[in-house]
Formats: sequence, C-alpha cells, structure tokens
Amino acid sequence: MGNEREKIEFDILFVGGGPANLAASIHLMNLARKKDMELEVAIIEKGATIGSHSLSGAILDPIALREIIPNYLESGCPVEMDVQEDEFYFLTKNKSFKVPFTPKYMHNKGYHIISLSKFTAWLASIAEELGVNIFPGFAGTEVLYGEDDKTIVGVRTGDKGIDKDNNRKTNYEPGIDIIAKVTVFGEGPRGSLLKKIDKKLNIFHGRMPQVFETAVKEVIELPESNYFSDSSGKIVHTFGYPLGLNTKGGSFIYQMKERRISIGLIVGLDYSDPMLEPYKEFILFKRHPFISGIINGGRVLQQGAKTLCAGGYYTMPELAVDGALFVGDSASMLNIQRLKGIHTAMKSGILAAEAIMEALIKDNFTRETLGLYKQLFEESWVRKELYAARNFTQALSKRGISKFFHLGVQYFTNGRGIIDPLPIKEDNKMLKEIVSNDLSIPDEQVSRYGKLEYDDKLYLDKLTGVYLSQTQHEEDQPCHLIVHDPELCSNECSEKYRNPCTRFCPASVYEIEVDEETKKRRLILNPSNCLHCKTCDIKDPYGNITWTCPEGGGGPGYTLV
Ligand code: SF4
Repeated sequence: MGNEREKIEFDILFVGGGPANLAASIHLMNLARKKDMELEVAIIEKGATIGSHSLSGAILDPIALREIIPNYLESGCPVEMDVQEDEFYFLTKNKSFKVPFTPKYMHNKGYHIISLSKFTAWLASIAEELGVNIFPGFAGTEVLYGEDDKTIVGVRTGDKGIDKDNNRKTNYEPGIDIIAKVTVFGEGPRGSLLKKIDKKLNIFHGRMPQVFETAVKEVIELPESNYFSDSSGKIVHTFGYPLGLNTKGGSFIYQMKERRISIGLIVGLDYSDPMLEPYKEFILFKRHPFISGIINGGRVLQQGAKTLCAGGYYTMPELAVDGALFVGDSASMLNIQRLKGIHTAMKSGILAAEAIMEALIKDNFTRETLGLYKQLFEESWVRKELYAARNFTQALSKRGISKFFHLGVQYFTNGRGIIDPLPIKEDNKMLKEIVSNDLSIPDEQVSRYGKLEYDDKLYLDKLTGVYLSQTQHEEDQPCHLIVHDPELCSNECSEKYRNPCTRFCPASVYEIEVDEETKKRRLILNPSNCLHCKTCDIKDPYGNITWTCPEGGGGPGYTLV
C-alpha cells in the first residue's frame, strides 16, 4: 500500500468487536436476508483477534442470545458450565460468613458460565458466516463528520508504521477512512471515540456523571482435589474484606471446565484513599484464609484487567445522533446490580439493528429516524431491568453501613429508594489529599499493604500478570498515553496524592523516578504493558491522562478470561 489514504464504503460500520456489535451485526444480517436486501457490513476491532480484548466475569443470562440464535447450544456456543448453586459471603479480615439469603437479583441458577473471549470469538464466526466483514487489528482513531460537521459518516483507522518520534517507518501505512450510512459505536467502557463525540455533540449532556469500576481477573487451574471437585456449577460472590464498607466492590469466583476457575475482584473507582491499589487489593483478597483455601495448590493461567461502566440508566448518553448509534458498555448498558452486562449489551445491539433496518428501508439516517432505537429501548425488557437498578451504584457508593439502608429501601420500592435520582460524583473527584505531603517518606511507608508476597505461580506481581495477559505492543510507536502536563505529576500530584497512577494502573505502566539530590519526582511510562483497561483515563485526579488507541493489533491477547 502506498502513502495515499484509502477510502472504503460500507452500508453499516460497527466500531468494536464486543457482544453488542456482534449481536447487532448478526441480527441485522438476518433481518436483511428476510427482506432479500444486500448489505455490506463491517466490524473493526482494535485487538489482534476478536476476543483478544474481551474480558468479563462472566455469567451469561442467555435472554438476548436466544433472541438471535435460538439454538445457541446446538450451534456450538462455548459454555463452560451451567450455574447450579449461588454462594454469597461476607468477609472480615480472617473470617467468612455465609449470607443466609442471596438477593434475588444475584440469583444465577441456570445461567451459563462462559469465557467472554471465547464467546465473542464464537459470535464473530457466526457473523462471518452471515457475510459480515470483520477486520481485527484496526483501531478507529478519528470520527469522520459530513459537510454539516455534525453528521457522523464513519471513522478513520489509525496509521501504522509510525515510530516513537512520529516519523514514518518503511512499513508506514496511512489509516483508512471507512465511510458508512450508519456507524455503531460499541467500544466498551470509556470509549476513546465516544469521548471525542461527546466533546463535539454533547451526548452526555444532562446525564449523571459516568462512573466505573476496575476488575482484576484471573483464570486459575486448581489441583485435582478442590473446593469444586463435584463439578457442581458453583459460583461464589463476596463483599467486605479487603475493601471494607467504605469502598465499593466485591469479588467473584466462577467454576469453569477442566478444574479451572474464573476469579476476580472489582473495585469501585470512587474510592477516596490515593494509596489504594486495586491490584494489591486483589492479592489481599486471594490471601484471605477462605479464598486461599479455595485456590491453594493452583496456578494462574491468564490474568487481565478491565473497567466496567457502573452508572447504569441515569448515565446513559443520547443513543442516536445523525449517522450513528451507541450500544453496549459505551452506552452504559450494564446492570451493575446483577453484575452482568453481556445480555444487556447484546439486547442494545439487537434494538440498534432493528432501528438501522427501518432507516435503511426509509433511506434516511438522521437522528430522528435512528431515534427509533431509543423508542425500542424504552419499550424493551432491558430498559425495565436497567431502570429497576437506576440508583444501585449510587447506594453502593455510600460510605459505611448507610449503603445497606439505601439498598434496603430500593429493594422494596423497585429501585426508587429514598431519593430518586440519588446523586453521584465523578470518580476522579473523590480522592482525598494525603495529610502529610512529606515526600522524604518513601511511598512504601505510606502504603497500606506492608510487604505482599508473590510466588510467580498463584500470587503474581503485576509484571508477571502482564506477561500472562499475553500483552504485546509494537515498541517503536508514539506513546498512546497522553500525559498533558508532566510538571503537574512532578509537583502538585506528587505532593497531594503521591502519583496515584502508579497504583491504580494494574500493569505498572506508570512509575516514578526520584532524583537522589533534589528529591524531585518524574513520571516514567511503560506503555507496552498497557492492558487497555482505561482506569488511568478515568481516575487521574486532574484528568491529566488521556488514553488513545495504540497501533491496531496491540494490547492483551486474552483467550481464556
Ligand atoms: Fe489501564 Fe491505563 Fe494502566 Fe493501560 S496505562 S493498563 S489503560 S491504567
């Protein structure tokens, strides 16, 4: 390919190869077949393969899947196990207490335990059979607008073959302009293109702030004799230790095939202690006597991290603009109360596909026509489900036991609670300043973790975890993490917060170098470690970090999580 920028046209372009867009493309192709309509449909995905950037718990409620693939089990859907038994525990530092009843929204019996990376790869194979063009390794980096400067007409993919000083290498290939009648954005939580669209079109105007949680997750292979040896399809959720009652979050352990389990800790990013480190909380959790009793003798096969959008109904953006729709996590379609977002994401994709079909029939792709998506959403089960959980994350964000009071009232008022809507603040406004800003005290001494022990097998340090996420990036490329004002890191952020990026990043991308003489701190970046979780883009107290897409194909290589 030369240096000329290519332009390709499709009828419909899906940005992101997650469950929402895959469901949308499958449903759209089926609708088109029924109407004898020829459609050119494309999905672009920044990961090297479909599924390589997909990470979730994950329990699948198959309600939406059944709508598009009724015989999904016969069609080879990769189910690990069916849930037979829910267990719910409250953990103190050394003890565990089984909660005598599980709230009804946490009932999972009959649902499927899956690996999201395997599941999305399978959905992609079905979409391809239906004629969808799938382009992994292509990251959308710019949104393209029409002459009116407000109608979205497609996206530009990132250039390839640029070195770290922004010079063209011999393998330089300019990005491609992909033009479509409708572009569907399903970039997952904190979409980088969605942020740009919001700046221009204000799609989050009037909504409550987006809030997120970060999950660190592993797949562990257990020894022959283990907690789950009866293949019972058992799942365990916990709350309490190590996060306590002032930090939102909890854990999950799901039984998988072949003596494997999926285990993770989810930490609400509204935490206030700048020294908190989600990754180390995960290690503390694994070291808890109850949890270590479950995992002892095992070994970690894969690790990863990702944020999830926790805000729900009140944080959803406008769903349609001229030429574009927003689906899945990008549109806050996750039910944090049920700790599930795959079925809601898929349903949003299905509804988007129906709106697109109507727009194709009318040959009209304005916000008004595409707005049918919002109307369909309002009439659907997914709206009912998300609306019932509309104040849940806000209640969980309350400090101490007051959260249980709010949750209790919500439980008996179908989500309304005491105040509706219950307000919430942006995650990056929540950090409290460290009382002592004496930088001569090393970070380890201010830390709450003491000396955590790692063993390279079951309790991994961050870098071993990155290795097991199979993360790879082209080293010689521009840094995809934009630190807008490095001086802020060296000065104010050091003094007030001790550079929390070095702790909230689960992949040791951010490090601080301290000058021996002046004691001045300088931020150093290791962007090749990046797991694309987006925590830094969300939690930095100054909004000083912007995550952008690196060269397409870079990032984690998940296959099991
Ligand atoms: Fe996540 Fe940012 Fe760290 Fe990458 S650099 S792993 S996006 S926190």
